[in-house]
Amino acid sequence: MKLLLVEDDPTLRSQLRTGLEEAGYALDEADNGRDAQHLGETEAFDAVVLDLGLPVVDGLTVLKRWREAGRTMPVLILTARDSWHEKVAGIDAGADDYLAKPFHMEELLARVRALIRRAQGLASPLLKCGELTLDTRSSRVTLDGQPVTLTSHEFRLLAYLMHRPGSVVSRTELTEHLYAQDFDRDSNTIEVFIGRLRRKLPADTIETVRGMGYRLATPP
Ligand code: CA
Repeated sequence: MKLLLVEDDPTLRSQLRTGLEEAGYALDEADNGRDAQHLGETEAFDAVVLDLGLPVVDGLTVLKRWREAGRTMPVLILTARDSWHEKVAGIDAGADDYLAKPFHMEELLARVRALIRRAQGLASPLLKCGELTLDTRSSRVTLDGQPVTLTSHEFRLLAYLMHRPGSVVSRTELTEHLYAQDFDRDSNTIEVFIGRLRRKLPADTIETVRGMGYRLATPP
């Protein structure tokens, strides 16, 4: 999963970066509204954390422009404390959820998880595929109750597929959603990670759909 983090306060941005990266997300960042707008219009994100008080272009305008441009990614806005009118304006501009500053990192992470889940029509934080279970809260994967040890790249890849059960996901889509913008995006690396993941999972868990991409097998 890849997120866009938009926050101009360097201290808060650094705290958010640490928390989000520890939770396993790939991250692109912007510290002003103009860069944020450009990234949101050109890159694929599974969710956005958007501060409203931003230099150059304010967050509310950025959000409105994304929605006008047809960008539908879930957006969590960060608002000033006690500013109910900011929350209302933000939700009316197309935000999916809000969090008032100051907040606890755990709450932000829970809201981001819920936004990503709901964007795929999933209600439960536990994702299941046969005997395979992925707990989005703890980032743990188990197979028949036994823990499966994955690297962060393998986990990100599996989490993306498990959020889209039965859907074919292309290598391009995976590359876009698994790596930050400055990462060396060689689509062959996806094949390498798929290969490693397959060795840790039951045979045929990840199907190759010729010429199209990969799909998580739906058990009978
Ligand atoms: Ca700010």
